[in-house]
Amino acid sequence: MTRSISILGATGSVGGSTLDLIRRNPDGWRVVALTANCNAAELARLAREFGAEVAVVADESCLADLRAALEGSDIVAAAGRAALCEAAARPADLTVAAIVGCAGLAPTMAAIEQGGTIALANKEALVSAGEVMTAAVTRHGATLLPVDSEHNAIFQCLEGERIEDVRWITLTASGGPLREAKDLSAVTPEQAIAHPNWDMGAKISVDSATMFNKGLELIEAHHLFPVGLDRIRIVVHPQSVIHSMVEYRDGSTLAQLGPSDMRVPIASCLAWPERIDTPCKPLDLAAIGELTFFAPDEKRFPATRLAREAAQAGGAAPAVLNAANEVAVAAFLNRQIPFSRIPLLVEDVLMHGNLPDAPRSLDEVLMVDESSRRRATEMLELA
Ligand code: NDP
Repeated sequence: MTRSISILGATGSVGGSTLDLIRRNPDGWRVVALTANCNAAELARLAREFGAEVAVVADESCLADLRAALEGSDIVAAAGRAALCEAAARPADLTVAAIVGCAGLAPTMAAIEQGGTIALANKEALVSAGEVMTAAVTRHGATLLPVDSEHNAIFQCLEGERIEDVRWITLTASGGPLREAKDLSAVTPEQAIAHPNWDMGAKISVDSATMFNKGLELIEAHHLFPVGLDRIRIVVHPQSVIHSMVEYRDGSTLAQLGPSDMRVPIASCLAWPERIDTPCKPLDLAAIGELTFFAPDEKRFPATRLAREAAQAGGAAPAVLNAANEVAVAAFLNRQIPFSRIPLLVEDVLMHGNLPDAPRSLDEVLMVDESSRRRATEMLELA
């Protein structure tokens, strides 16, 4: 049976892993829409290879390049935020939401509003929109399948179980490349993005290094799995073999293990509720030898504490935290601020000034995002 698929963020790391799986089963999939920000050449190459109906760049200044690269094909080229949402709203059996950052929120919501199945990698969208997104999922009868390896692991461990029987959800964290770094203020972007286990885009790699990735995942888990925030805990597990665990009331703990390869959780979403083959290396536990676990060090890496506090505060706080983190990470990658300033800036934006009112619609979430970015940028300029 051939199913249709759209990939938002097709030129990125998750987008590429998804297309790699589709390439291995070309008869199984018909590609509807592929999107990028501005990487027109790569987007056009992928759109031609997979015979996409439409290719969209978010950045309108890149449309001319996209059109030129698609010349002679039947693929529709489009650009801009509205075109991105229109592409996301095209009927598809599965939409992979793999844009990085809150920029992915509006197109993801457009896909949700079609009542389809969304494989969600874009955690910033769920963190920012929280209840607005989960309410839309319910209202439109959509299905969210978590792509994030931790949430996909939890999703698998919860299959066939009752949520009220859950005692703990344990999110595992690799601890990132800087777990043992001596001087966090001297860390360069190159060091921060050199993740020991996972090959990912630059933003999530920096988030892994600061532990904001785990903080965002805590909020993501809180929305995806309604067990209560105080029942979700984090443990550092440097080998990234156990992707997360669920402990039940009888003392049983179910865990999902696998190689550090995003094609495993992506394949689980592509095939759900069935399974498909992947080319991933089988897990060789004897070669790995040892699995270790540590409590997170929130003194050196305050991101998980800040995220938990934002989730407890609720309302606009998670969207503010996410926006401030996006600004801080971009400034760090541009060498404007030291690595150690990232959590400080996020905390400053969260703590100083009044929090906006709790957003109740997509537009209100986008307004909170916009105003928080402005505040974070002003604070950067003041420093
Ligand atoms: P990448 O940076 O590799 O790719 C991001 C994608 O989003 C690219 O296609 C990029 O287009 C597009 N994009 C960037 N900015 C915009 C914008 N303003 N508007 C529209 N599209 C945009 O990111 P990843 O694949 O690493 O991550 C994607 C999401 O998945 C993130 O939310 C991340 O947290 C999550 N995730 C990633 C994992 C991973 O292993 N990489 C694991 C789990 C979750 P262009 O190429 O033109 O810039």
